[in-house]
Amino acid sequence: MSLANGRAYLAIPGPSVIPDAVLRSMHRASPNIYEGELHDLTDSLIPDLKAVAMTKQNVAIYIGNGHAAWEAALSNVLSEGDTVLVLATGRFCIGWGEMAEGLGVTVQTIDFGDRADVDLAKVEDALRADKAGKIKAVLAVHVDTSTSVKNDVAGLRRVLDTTGHDALLMADCIASLGCDRFEMDAWGVDVMVAACQKGLMTPAGICFVYYNAKANARRPSRVSRYWDWRARTEPEHYFQYFDGTAPTHHLYGLRTALDMIKDEGLDHVFARHEALAKTVWAAFDCWSTEGPLALNIADPAKRSHAVTSATAGSPNADALRHWCEHKAGLTLGIGLGRTPADAFFRIGHMGHVNAQMIMGVLGTMEAGLIALKIPHGKGAVEAAASVIAATA
Ligand SMILES: *Cc1c(COP(=O)(O)O)cnc(C)c1O
Repeated sequence: MSLANGRAYLAIPGPSVIPDAVLRSMHRASPNIYEGELHDLTDSLIPDLKAVAMTKQNVAIYIGNGHAAWEAALSNVLSEGDTVLVLATGRFCIGWGEMAEGLGVTVQTIDFGDRADVDLAKVEDALRADKAGKIKAVLAVHVDTSTSVKNDVAGLRRVLDTTGHDALLMADCIASLGCDRFEMDAWGVDVMVAACQKGLMTPAGICFVYYNAKANARRPSRVSRYWDWRARTEPEHYFQYFDGTAPTHHLYGLRTALDMIKDEGLDHVFARHEALAKTVWAAFDCWSTEGPLALNIADPAKRSHAVTSATAGSPNADALRHWCEHKAGLTLGIGLGRTPADAFFRIGHMGHVNAQMIMGVLGTMEAGLIALKIPHGKGAVEAAASVIAATA
């Protein structure tokens, strides 16, 4: 028998749960795209997008997903034949590097595996070895969604400064923006990419490239017309932010989502994500005392607050995901980019999530572990509840 009927819960690390208020604000006829309300609304998004990333620099909005933001960012600072240093801590930075290769850029990769963060000493060695200054940019993900590791982006700036290397620091915050604290200006990030469907709680379809004056000065003489960020940030340009039809409904949705973040307060948003992440970890600390369950990242300080990657052994992870989805209406994330894929799974806890949703995820997983006879330590739901009780 299935108990899945009722409101389903998509607990994957993006797209995340869309608030009803965001959906309601998108339920309308198309507006005039040439003048009036939509232009004012788009203007109003810019300061709030900057506030979420803690920056006073520039932000360009594109129609596209995270992959589009990757290509847009690279296209504005690199030319064919340039070299970038890719710091791989899971699937996503590798993917960004592949995007660079597609643009004719040479990719030098340091692979830190899929259970660790970036080792700053190794980055320092690579930069010092680059005596000719061939490396034009260092590409890192703040939170790698496949492994749930959180990298020390501010530490990367210190390494660039200590070595005197003038490569741009480029960060992927697609998973972390609005979930894990990120301070673009204070941390000295030159270019940052993000998308709307994770911490920003809006249906997939628009993405953002943030850049500072230093990055803008590195702009090559020829930039792909569509990706050119200047066309989207210099006010005298036609339609200001869009080459072509604006992503009308996404803009309304994002306006509502940013209002929700503002109303809650960014610090509170970060604190809520932290508390809910710790709730998830507390359950795993119990489950993993017996049997195959284990968190992917051992050190809590290096774990994201937006997503948790874990193993349940092969093929238990697939079995657990299927049980949760078909018997209980809970969809967990796949073990993206991991081998064997059926040993890993992920829980998204980004954006519009609260305590009862997370307790529902953990209680449902516990039911799945019992039903599937996957060995596990006891007391996980109580341990999770204790974190909620102590925090709220
Ligand atoms: C989701 C994600 C991407 C890819 O975004 P898409 O919208 O799926 O193209 C890239 N990097 C990170 C860190 C992500 O979490």
